[in-house]
Amino acid sequence: MIVRPIRYLGDPVLRKKAKQVELINDDIHVLVESMFSSMNKAQGVGLAAPQVGVNLAIAVIDIPTHEPFTIINPVITKSNGMRIVENEGCLSVPGYRGNPERSIEVFVEARDVNNKKIKFHAQDNLLAQVLEHEIDHLQGSLYIDRLKDINELVKLNSLDWNDPEE
Ligand SMILES: [Zn+2]
Repeated sequence: MIVRPIRYLGDPVLRKKAKQVELINDDIHVLVESMFSSMNKAQGVGLAAPQVGVNLAIAVIDIPTHEPFTIINPVITKSNGMRIVENEGCLSVPGYRGNPERSIEVFVEARDVNNKKIKFHAQDNLLAQVLEHEIDHLQGSLYIDRLKDINELVKLNSLDWNDPEE
């Protein structure tokens, strides 16, 4: 299992719009496996390809309510409402937490690793939060961009670092 190093805030790859995947081939399958390994090692609940230095529109998600899954070329086709999510974190901004503004409801379309079309409808839950967080990454956006005020970012002491991050 290949574990790729996580890229941190300040790395330009995190601010680029990710490229669409044209062909879901063996190279993509190997990349996705390495993304799962990297996410699991870092104890995250989601990881986007730019976070491991790859500028492609792919994310992996592993949350308690679902089997781990992959979204390729995901699109938010519709979103509704606004809520404040508390204590969100990101593997690329280690040691910090914030309360970003997020949609209440999201509709997402994507491809899975077998190029099958998959759809999600999530409302006011962790799935909605993580889908939006990862798809933000693919637009070059980070949760800290959704804070009303960057000074709201809270620095954790190192003992709290084991909480799930995206
Ligand atoms: Zn993140």
